[in-house]
Amino acid sequence: MSAQVLSGKEVAAVVREEVRQRVAALAGHGRSVGLATVLVGEDAASQVYVRGKHKAATAAGMLSYDRTLPATASQDEVEDLIRDLNANDKVDGMIVQLPLPDGLDGNRAVETIDPDKDADGLHPDSLGRLVLDRPGPRPATPAGIMRVLQHYEIETSGKLAVVIGRSFLVGRPMVLLLSAKGVDATVIQTHSRTPDLAGMSREADILIVAIGRPNFVGADFVKPGATVIDVGINRTENGLVGDVDYDAVADVAGAITPVPGGVGPMTIASLLENTVAAAERSAGLV
Ligand code: NAP
Repeated sequence: MSAQVLSGKEVAAVVREEVRQRVAALAGHGRSVGLATVLVGEDAASQVYVRGKHKAATAAGMLSYDRTLPATASQDEVEDLIRDLNANDKVDGMIVQLPLPDGLDGNRAVETIDPDKDADGLHPDSLGRLVLDRPGPRPATPAGIMRVLQHYEIETSGKLAVVIGRSFLVGRPMVLLLSAKGVDATVIQTHSRTPDLAGMSREADILIVAIGRPNFVGADFVKPGATVIDVGINRTENGLVGDVDYDAVADVAGAITPVPGGVGPMTIASLLENTVAAAERSAGLV
């Protein structure tokens, strides 16, 4: 293995310490910071993610509010809970853990969040701000990836980035962040209908993979020396694996994120950042 390991775990620790200091500064103004999570149903993976978010929020000095509803909850019940949290002035940031159980509309639930409390940066208002390059909460996972690239001083300007996956959660906002002024990558968005995906990926200086297919991207997708960011989280009988065949790709890539310990911790760090930023805005400090 020759690739540099891009440790999201380490970068997340830096971000979380920054957030802790900002939370402490707000406490100095007599202002608490609160993160609320809305979990519907009993999906084991979602429960693990939500627990991780509360643990991180508490470690940063935030108050955290854990709201759960049974899988049988109606869309109205979910949205009423979100409206309650919107009205709660102790709650600065909120996330709805996606996906919601079958029969519930996750997009509508996210649209019910007060955009000023959008910790995941997925509200249409936040996505619009991203498109318009205006300040606002950025989608947590792609924002976390940008922070990893910055931390390890991976050059983006003038580079070719290929993003595999076009979800609104990861792939699409990732393209916008990478192509933003000041970041200045040239970006190709690919998906399941892209012909010769391996060949196109092999052109990339930076390859971002967010598809949800265990070990899908092999060494044949990667230009020697490229930076590879693996967003995938797949539970297999061999444990948690990414979308990238780590051992094979690490021999070719210049730098690579591991799974676990790569992008996952950055998602949590970014939502804490969005939450403390919301509190600073509502306290009139920025
Ligand atoms: P998603 O909504 O299911 O989207 C998957 C995307 O991948 C789609 O655009 C799909 O293309 C594309 N795709 C699927 N199979 C493909 C193939 N064989 N070749 C090329 N493209 C393919 O998934 P998501 O929410 O973006 O999540 C992707 C992965 O990231 C999942 O493993 C998820 O668990 C993980 N994730 C991790 C974090 C984290 O914090 N680390 C956060 C979010 C998500 P089409 O549009 O053509 O169908």
